[in-house]
Amino acid sequence: PITPTQNIWHNGQLIPWEKANIHVMSHVVHYGSSVFEGIRAYTQGSSAGVFRLPEHMQRLIDSAKIYRMPLPYTVDQLCAAVVDVVEANGVAPCYIRPVAFRGYGEIGVNPTKSPIEIYIANFPWGKYITASEGADVCISSWSRLAPNTMPSLAKAGANYMNSQLINMEAKVNGYVEGIALDRNGYLSEGSGENLFLVRNGVIYTSPLANSVLSGITRDSIITIAKHLGIPVVEQSLPRELIYIADEAFFTGTAAEVTHLRSVDQIMIADGKMGPITTAIHDEFFALVNGLQPDRYNWLTPVNVK
Ligand code: PMP
Repeated sequence: PITPTQNIWHNGQLIPWEKANIHVMSHVVHYGSSVFEGIRAYTQGSSAGVFRLPEHMQRLIDSAKIYRMPLPYTVDQLCAAVVDVVEANGVAPCYIRPVAFRGYGEIGVNPTKSPIEIYIANFPWGKYITASEGADVCISSWSRLAPNTMPSLAKAGANYMNSQLINMEAKVNGYVEGIALDRNGYLSEGSGENLFLVRNGVIYTSPLANSVLSGITRDSIITIAKHLGIPVVEQSLPRELIYIADEAFFTGTAAEVTHLRSVDQIMIADGKMGPITTAIHDEFFALVNGLQPDRYNWLTPVNVK
């Protein structure tokens, strides 16, 4: 269950957590008309910082734009709102969940008569994939969203119906997560994570054209890999490449960097976290935890006392 905090930001104001309710006849409840973000704030010794906050807020605005949902706030205003709510609640490390949706107005499919509501909540949250020995995953029988159906660059609530099918199927079959193929059978991503493979010292990840979300952790990992001198190739990846990879890992705000032990009960190499995943993982956590200087300016400071 979510651990509640005190305040939630709503359309420019802080309101009590328990007052942040919507009507059952709101458009979003019936038609999934929402866009959202997931962000983490980390602590760096006695200070705290939100990871890649402007990039997340830009993606929120982009997601809304794809769905013709004009948000009446700039990136800077939304970033300030996140800082406000995190500071008011005084909770870090934490997970931050901004969501914008079509509220209570008309019941028809066309959403333009229903008001746009924006809320930002934050709350404490630990590991998303708790698999210290590595995650055992499967290839899903469900495909990722085809490009001309639901746009995968929009982080829209409705996309997560597809993610739920992938994740639930994996879980009932005893796996921690599923990886979906795209409509052409290439590797796409997990239900809430981008996918990376390592083979012969090269890192591979699916390009945005293979129905993946433009993950902010994905982008961060590509940046870190380049810094470490590890080549990164973005190309369509055949399914079987994951079975013969030297290493594989998921990235995401929730999943952070999670190494994969097996796929479809085929061990990835010896199943242990390999040297390249380890280097990437360690550098990522060194940056977010302040053990390395913030050389990319990825942390927005928050004063949580
Ligand atoms: N793909 C999907 C489908 C996701 O839901 C997420 C989580 N937002 C990701 C990838 C990873 O994106 P990010 O690194 O920005 O959290």
